[in-house]
Amino acid sequence: MASRSITTVDELVTAGLIAAGEEAAAAAVAEHYAIAVTPAMADLIDPSDPLDPIAAQFVPTAAELVRTEEERDDPIGDRPFTPLPGIVHRYPDRVLLKVVHVCPVYCRFCFRREMVGPQGDGTLTAEQLSAALDYVRANTGIWEVILTGGDPLVLSARRLAEIMRQLATIPHVKIVRIHSRVPVVDPERIDAAMIDALKQGGKTVYVALHANHPRELSAPARNACARLVDAGIVMVSQTVLLKGINDDMTVLDELMRTFVENRIKPYYLHHPDLAPGTGHFRLSIKEGQALVRALRTRLSGLCIPAYILDIPGGHGKIEISERALAGDPDAGYCVTDPQGNTHPYPVKK
Ligand code: SF4
Repeated sequence: MASRSITTVDELVTAGLIAAGEEAAAAAVAEHYAIAVTPAMADLIDPSDPLDPIAAQFVPTAAELVRTEEERDDPIGDRPFTPLPGIVHRYPDRVLLKVVHVCPVYCRFCFRREMVGPQGDGTLTAEQLSAALDYVRANTGIWEVILTGGDPLVLSARRLAEIMRQLATIPHVKIVRIHSRVPVVDPERIDAAMIDALKQGGKTVYVALHANHPRELSAPARNACARLVDAGIVMVSQTVLLKGINDDMTVLDELMRTFVENRIKPYYLHHPDLAPGTGHFRLSIKEGQALVRALRTRLSGLCIPAYILDIPGGHGKIEISERALAGDPDAGYCVTDPQGNTHPYPVKK
């Protein structure tokens, strides 16, 4: 296994992950969006397979240069709900705390692709982090703090421990949830020091693992998840439904069973967001609904995630059901948010 991540087009070419003639398009993408493939992920890729589902998640292609009119820089509407750097306060009882905007891998379909990476929103300064924690402290209705970004598990164990200790001093915060890809893309980071850091302060900790294909759950990844669960950390999953990667009943079936077998409760199956240059990953809501219906006929309820749409503009998440979506799919949906307000969803079918 390589000792460090691939981060440039030249390195992708050397690794045989970009075909001859596609370098220029990849370089054009890389001018705007970061590249990173960890050794653990590079190892899983079959370079001879042009449809490899791991490569498709991390290797830039010309398709990312196509932007459609419904796509937007902030697809789930973080910015209107950002009262100060690092905080997104969309729902009364929970906030996002975005300490870093760096990830160990850069997913080509990322919903925050305009905010993450070296050209993104950066890392909170000590003063900004302190102000963000003061905001949480002052808003006594906040029950859950969700560490996201970027990937919070790229932080050192020392910095994570400090954040966990600070959160532990806020009595109304009962739950700390950490959204991360690290247990699968860089499993060795989940070591004793990292686990000790997550347990500092004694809050109830959930790790929401982002994985999209069963091959990501390699033996080292399963061991990393086992270390977390054995330490008393609850794990749930989040998966993005992606054309060409997991829009297939067999793949989804295996992925959800693999989560459950590894003590990770399937939580979210996200319909892909309207991030710039990601149209090639999007399937229709109708196709997604058909897949979820079929999943329900095959799998134990334990294996069924909620199929979720983040309403563009920051109006929150809804479970995609016939009740929440109205209108003519050929003309665009009308979506009802959790407060009962309706919004257009501009993608047809
Ligand atoms: S790990 Fe998450 S935040 Fe980072 S690039 Fe992937 S989807 Fe985006």
